[in-house]
Amino acid sequence: MTHQIYAIRYGHLERTSEHNFLGGDDHATPMPLDYYVWVIKADGRVIVVDTGFDAVAAQRRGRTLIRPVAEGLAAAGVEPGEVRDVVITHLHYDHAGNAALFPRAQFHVQDAEMAYCTGRAMTHRHLSAPFDAENVADMVRRVFDGRVEFHAGDAQLCAGVTLHHLPGHTLGLQAVRVATARGPVVLASDVAHFWANLERETPFPIVADVPAYLDSLRALRRLAPSLDHIIPGHDPAVLARFPRMPGVADVVRVDLTPLSGAAA
Ligand SMILES: [Zn+2]
Repeated sequence: MTHQIYAIRYGHLERTSEHNFLGGDDHATPMPLDYYVWVIKADGRVIVVDTGFDAVAAQRRGRTLIRPVAEGLAAAGVEPGEVRDVVITHLHYDHAGNAALFPRAQFHVQDAEMAYCTGRAMTHRHLSAPFDAENVADMVRRVFDGRVEFHAGDAQLCAGVTLHHLPGHTLGLQAVRVATARGPVVLASDVAHFWANLERETPFPIVADVPAYLDSLRALRRLAPSLDHIIPGHDPAVLARFPRMPGVADVVRVDLTPLSGAAA
C-alpha cells in the first residue's frame, strides 16, 4: 500500500532564529516559519492532517495567510466538504481552525490532547496562548455530535497509516506515519518545527514538557529511515526540497524523493 502525501503551505511568519530554539540561538539570523496542512491519498481515500487557521486568526495574531486552506486543498484536488477523516495533531490555533470546512469528517484526536486543552493547564496563560478557545469549543461540540474518534497512544487509522503519540510541545501531540513508495514518511507536525530542532536536539520554545519533547524527538527518528523521511511542521525547506505539483504554487509531494541535498 503506497500513499501520496501533499504538504500545502497556507501561511507565513517572518522571524529570527533565536525565537525558534529553547534557550535562544547565538546568531539572530532570518528563520521564518511556514504554516502547512497535509493531505494523504490512497485508493480514493483522503485523509486531511490538520486544518490550519483562517483570515480572522491570521490578522489577530499577525500572521500572513498566503492562501485560505480551502483553496490550498482544492489545489491538491481535495473538496473539504467530502472529506471523511481529519487527523488533528494537536489543537494549537494554527492546526485546529476552519471548523466549518469539514462538515462530514470524523476527527481523530489523542485523549491526552483533549484533556490538556480543556483542563487545568489552560489556566496558565503561558500554556493557553497558542490555543484559540473557539477551536477547542468546536472540538468539544464535535464530541457531543459523535464526530470525534479518540486515540490513546499509537493507533492504526487504515492500512499504511498510523498515529503516534509524541508529547512535549503539547501533551497530546501526535504524528502520522504513512507508507509510501520511498518507505515510511512521518508527518511530524510540531514534534519538530524545523529539521534543525531534530539536528540540534533542541526544543522549539513552546514546550509543555521538555523531557517528553526530547524523548519524542528520539522516537520520531526511530519511526523513519532517515531525516528525509521526517516532515517537520513549519520548515520552509519542505517547500523548497520536494517536487511541486505541476502548475500549482505552495503544494509539494513529500511522498516523492527530495530534489535537493539531504536534510542532514
Ligand atoms: Zn504549529
